[in-house]
Amino acid sequence: RAKAAGRNTYRLGDSEADAAAESSGLLVAEMKGAMKRGDFLLNYQPIIDLATGGIAGFEALVRWRHPCKGELSPSAFIPLAEESGLIVPLGAWVLKEACREAAAWPEPLRIAVNVSAIQFQQISMEETVRHALATSGLAPHRLELEITETMLMQKSDTVCRTMERLRSLGVRIALDDFGTGYSSLSYLHQFSFDTIKIDRSFVAGSENPKTVAITRAIVALGTSFGARVIAEGVETEEHLAFVRTAGCTDVQGFLFDPPLPAEAIVPLIESGRLRLAA
Ligand code: C2E
Ligand code: MG
Ligand code: MG
Ligand code: MG
Repeated sequence: RAKAAGRNTYRLGDSEADAAAESSGLLVAEMKGAMKRGDFLLNYQPIIDLATGGIAGFEALVRWRHPCKGELSPSAFIPLAEESGLIVPLGAWVLKEACREAAAWPEPLRIAVNVSAIQFQQISMEETVRHALATSGLAPHRLELEITETMLMQKSDTVCRTMERLRSLGVRIALDDFGTGYSSLSYLHQFSFDTIKIDRSFVAGSENPKTVAITRAIVALGTSFGARVIAEGVETEEHLAFVRTAGCTDVQGFLFDPPLPAEAIVPLIESGRLRLAA
């Protein structure tokens, strides 16, 4: 679809931009088809309570079983889903599916679901969450919505109001990727979170004294608010020792489990790796 700027002269910049637009347009069309066909799926990664060593819950992570490209990770399609607005129906599906799956797990196991800013800006968000809870029968306190700092950057009234309404329903709110945004501390000041998830860039920084000091301070701050503090991306025993001494309440990472297919969860639960206390 290269534009001819005159006979035999093609404006390269335009045609590259056109090609990019064309391929993202194709991907959006493919995503719509994939939603109809049911080609999206969720994996679940255990979150481990350090006090008991048992599983406290799972984080739902979306995947796209693409007919030609194989299984695509969120970074390959979530940004485009956000740009195109498709994240709204896709996110609603994720919520509904995650709640449905989690309703089959014993109490007090929780399910954490990632939510985009665009979803939170919808007036319909509260209803979408209520619907996912009602159709699954999952108790609201077992659902945790993970939001990122970039989402709060908009500071829209709709986002604040929806967050407060959902919290008053009993739904938990987690601040994801903490420390990677622009004004992390101001968000802690403005909003109440049940959980803070420390980004894995901190978790992997135990050789850097500054990173260690910052991590300890984040944990102290979070736990003083009564929030749980989860370390993300715990890959090694060294990472684990570091976040444990820093005071994190929970951990998540390849050292324990990767994100797992839905079929693996019930056997995992039955294997007895559960956290028993609420
Ligand atoms: P996130 O919410 O911070 O999720 C954690 C990511 O870290 C996941 O990547 C997970 O597979 C990966 N991870 C877990 N343990 C380790 C580890 O020990 N080491 C390393 N290097 N990585 C680890 P994934 O599944 O590719 O998801 C990437 C991001 O995509 C998520 O980051 C989240 O922001 C977004 N995402 C995933 N599912 C959804 C969804 O349903 N909706 C929305 N809006 N975003 C989603
Ligand atoms: Mg997350
Ligand atoms: Mg994260
Ligand atoms: Mg992330």
